[in-house]
Amino acid sequence: MLTGPPLSRFRKNLLAWFAQFQRDLPWRRTSDPYRIWLSEIMLQQTRVAAAIPYYERFLERFPNVETLAAAPEEEVLRLWAGLGYYSRARNLQKTAKLVVANHNAIFPSDLSEVLALPGIGAYTAAAILSIAFQKKHAVLDGNVARVIARLNAVRGDLRANGNWPKLQKAAGHLLAGQSPGDWNQAMMELGATLCTPRSPQCLLCPVSEFCEARKQGLADVIPEKRRKRGTVEITLASLVLVDPQGNTLLLAPPKSAEKSAAADDVHTLVSRMWHFPTVAVPHGKALAAIRKFAEQSSILSRKFRGKFLPLKKVRHAVTYRAITLHPFRVEVEALPRIPSSKTFPLAGLSSLAISNLTRKVARAALASR
Ligand code: SF4
Repeated sequence: MLTGPPLSRFRKNLLAWFAQFQRDLPWRRTSDPYRIWLSEIMLQQTRVAAAIPYYERFLERFPNVETLAAAPEEEVLRLWAGLGYYSRARNLQKTAKLVVANHNAIFPSDLSEVLALPGIGAYTAAAILSIAFQKKHAVLDGNVARVIARLNAVRGDLRANGNWPKLQKAAGHLLAGQSPGDWNQAMMELGATLCTPRSPQCLLCPVSEFCEARKQGLADVIPEKRRKRGTVEITLASLVLVDPQGNTLLLAPPKSAEKSAAADDVHTLVSRMWHFPTVAVPHGKALAAIRKFAEQSSILSRKFRGKFLPLKKVRHAVTYRAITLHPFRVEVEALPRIPSSKTFPLAGLSSLAISNLTRKVARAALASR
């Protein structure tokens, strides 16, 4: 662990490099905690380049926490559509409402108050507090953990065997207290641009003289690869009813916020959004299963003799789940009126807040016309 003059030099080198080479990103041009918080949430599962247009569109519509808190959830989800992991958008709005109701619409600057907000964990809280309020909290995300592990030649899985708390402690030790916001961003920037997972660019690195992994020739093998969770194959079938006007029927997301633990829980797989009638099916039994589901849920009567037109299979991945979905298009005289359902023009679904899986099914149905 660096101490004394080497630690001061390490901090100086990294901050100077960051001042000169940092990427010009929209959230780096502000100290508004609302904007910084939004960027951190968007970047949790999304690459920088993909997040930028969403960030800009979102802020155009919701320039502050009050407008976000007051918006219909449907609209928030629509602006999020395509980014995935919709619980992030739902938690954003829950937090906005709490900030307006409990903090006079001013983002709190106290760690325990920030951590009490939905969707904000230790990393996000440290990022917001250091960048927006210059509080001395060190961030530890995957990029920073990799940099610290290489600097100290830490072997093994970084998230196992108590390594993470040690890395958090090391991040706190390295933190430059005079400029915690810049420091945290510099560490993340180093991990994102030079000290990358594969082929780190040690020759360009501003702190290479302090790096144990480079000295020991281990930069390419640290950190060790995490063992991946095995893929779970899921087979679903969906029903795309279409009336003579080109309208279709979607089912509402469930009201309860509870998540099912089942890997094939349909509501989880469609991101708890409006979706086509969908059911998990045994392999090779898609048609029989969707017919039965349609009858049991009163979407189609037992006497219905119309054709179930099989559409192009849809493939989709949600974290460790690999989904194969069999969509069936069924022409009906009139769409059924069943609880928790709504009719929408099939060709207009892209403007709705729907999951990417539902979007793919809609595309397959439109392509079949
Ligand atoms: Fe990463 Fe290489 Fe710099 Fe070490 S010298 S911190 S491995 S880029």
